[in-house]
Amino acid sequence: MNVLVINAGSSSLKFQLLDVDTREVYAKGNCERIGIDGSFVGYESIAVEGKQTIDAALPDHKTAMGYVIDIIDATGKDFIGIGHRVVQGGWYFPESKIVTDESLGWVREVAPLAPLHNYAEADAIEVCRELFPNKGNVVVADTSFHYAIPERAHRYALPRDVVDRLHIRKYGAHGTSHRYIWRATKQFLGDGVHKLVSCHLGSGASLCAIADGKNMDTTMGLTPLDGLIMGTRCGTIDPATVVYLQRVGGYTVDEVDTMMNKQSGLLAVSGISSDSRDIEQAADEGNEHAQMAIEMFAYRTAQLIMVMAQANEGIDTIAYSAGIGENSSRMRAEVAKKLAWMGVELDPELNAVRSDDIRLISTPKSAIKVLVVPTNEEYMIALDVAELLG
Ligand code: ADP
Repeated sequence: MNVLVINAGSSSLKFQLLDVDTREVYAKGNCERIGIDGSFVGYESIAVEGKQTIDAALPDHKTAMGYVIDIIDATGKDFIGIGHRVVQGGWYFPESKIVTDESLGWVREVAPLAPLHNYAEADAIEVCRELFPNKGNVVVADTSFHYAIPERAHRYALPRDVVDRLHIRKYGAHGTSHRYIWRATKQFLGDGVHKLVSCHLGSGASLCAIADGKNMDTTMGLTPLDGLIMGTRCGTIDPATVVYLQRVGGYTVDEVDTMMNKQSGLLAVSGISSDSRDIEQAADEGNEHAQMAIEMFAYRTAQLIMVMAQANEGIDTIAYSAGIGENSSRMRAEVAKKLAWMGVELDPELNAVRSDDIRLISTPKSAIKVLVVPTNEEYMIALDVAELLG
């Protein structure tokens, strides 16, 4: 059963055509710099050898979808429906839903909570409905998995009338990835996992506490700014800092927003880059700010793993995923050092292995199993589409 998965950003449109039964990917790619000079489509497909790039004027998502259709057509594969990654489902998507006029309206209604993503995603859904009138579309919101978090963890201790009127709560992010990580870990360890802390460490980063498949807490909040230190985001800080920056620092609301989302995190601490590869290299060359960026990232990750363990009332497994989690053996080792007091022990040889496969990297005597679990959000989205439309 084949599914087309679409992940639209404000200036990009990623796509993947895959078979949910065999997990074979027939075509995948990214339309980049939509609405900007120098736009192009990069893709791979069973219809052509190797990576392809088409220099294409992409004034809007509809034009980009035209290229996607040609690439999909060339594979000769049909598909049952289209799954759309939506960053913010707000209070309307406790689970994935088939697109109707009403549910498309919901994606736009909650867009003020994720303006950079939801409007573009809603536009992409509209384009797909127009271009494929006979195919069903499904919204798979990143927030859905977190909707089941217990109230004690998702409620903000602000006045009830304010919280209710403005729909303030912990929505979290990366939910589709955390859901996949639980599923893959369960398949890999069977009865060996009950209390998992899932660590999605990319340029955006979040942890999720999962007890027997139930989401108990996550580190991101109303928006994806909360929790861990990220590439350019500050993560958790004293909320009064926001007021202080405006009152005493003289920064405007928009300047504070930009500072905390785009000029902070690893980039700010290292003063070099938001990319952990650059930071690791600079740290090796003796740059003290880069060393501190790694130290702070690892410290906060270890600390919040413990917070998530409390949400689960126990921990038997830690799973690492996404760019840093899957690739940076150094960061995994740094976090493990900080958790050594509670018996976490990595096998240095297993930790050094590079592979696209799920794998155990802790020693047999480690008190907690540590895994690397390459995430696959597209597959998870496709599974939801197969279930709703198959
Ligand atoms: P996103 O999807 O949120 O943009 P990714 O999951 O692609 O992010 O992760 C990007 C991060 O992963 C970057 O900080 C990048 O430096 C890091 N990363 C990728 N490969 C490696 C590597 N081999 N070693 C260390 N960090 C890596």
